[in-house]
Amino acid sequence: MTSPGPLIGVLAIQGDVREHLASLERAGARARPVGSTAELGGVEGLVIPGGESTTMSKLALADGLMTPLREARASGMPMYGSCAGMIMLADRVEDARPDQETVGGLDITVRRNAFGRQVDSFESEVPIPAVGEPDFPAVFIRAPWVEQVGPSVDVLARVERGGAEGTIVAVRQGPLLATAFHPELTGDTRIHELFVRMVIG
Ligand code: GLN
Repeated sequence: MTSPGPLIGVLAIQGDVREHLASLERAGARARPVGSTAELGGVEGLVIPGGESTTMSKLALADGLMTPLREARASGMPMYGSCAGMIMLADRVEDARPDQETVGGLDITVRRNAFGRQVDSFESEVPIPAVGEPDFPAVFIRAPWVEQVGPSVDVLARVERGGAEGTIVAVRQGPLLATAFHPELTGDTRIHELFVRMVIG
C-alpha cells in the first residue's frame, strides 16, 4: 500500500481554488481548501492560487489571515504561488496598488500585469529543467513577471520576451516556489509534483 500523501491546503479566499485542489490530488497529495487560521494550522504546505492579488490582499487583511499567513511562512511552511499567488509571495511588487500588501518571503521583485494588454493571455512551451522533459505548457493570464531576484533565489524558467536572457517566470527559494503561469489549468501535474516533493522534504 502506498502511504497517504502530505496534506496541502489551497488558500481559498479568492481565485482558482478548485483547479489547484484537483491538480494536487492528481500529484499525490491530500488537498483541502484553507479559509481560516484554524484550517491553515492543519496543513503541511499551502498553495496560493491565481486570481487577483489586490483583492486577495484586501480579503486576507479583512479576514485577519495576513498575519497568520506571514507567521506560517516565517516558520518554514512550504508555499507555492501561481500568478497572483506569486505576487502574494514576493517581497517587492511593481505596479501594486498603494494599499496592496503581500505575505512576502521570496526575495524577488515582480511586476503586475507585466506582459501588457496586447498579450493579456498566451500559452508558451517553457523549458523547466527542474521538472524534466518535455517543455512545460505554460498558460499566462494577465501574468506578472520577475524583474529582479536576490542571491538565494533559483531561477527555474524564463520565456523569450524582451531582454536577451529572457524573462523570469518561475523561481524557487528554499521552501517557496512561484510561477507566473497557471499549471493548474493544464493536465500537466509536474509543477504540483515538485511542490509535493518540497512539502515531503
Ligand atoms: N493580474 C493579476 C494580479 O495582479 C494576476 C492574474 C492571475 O492570477 N491570473 O493579481
